[in-house]
Amino acid sequence: MATTIPCTRCGKLTAYTDADYAALAAKGGPVLPSGVCFPCAWRDPALQPALRDYAERKKAETIRRGRELLARPLEFIDRFVESLR
Ligand SMILES: [Zn+2]
Repeated sequence: MATTIPCTRCGKLTAYTDADYAALAAKGGPVLPSGVCFPCAWRDPALQPALRDYAERKKAETIRRGRELLARPLEFIDRFVESLR
């Protein structure tokens, strides 16, 4: 249920409202002020740490999943097959 509004900085790209960013943050997403799109947030030194932190966490999660796959391939395949049912 994302509500997009024009970015207050570039005026071109779409940004999200406070409620949507709050919902995103609740799911472990970056905490951003409303009315700022992701590319503009990346260019803002004050907002960059939150996005960088989020990107790092996402990367760590992907690596962890990859390691799990290497360590327990059969379990992973079982779970994958299970998810298709
Ligand atoms: Zn923007």
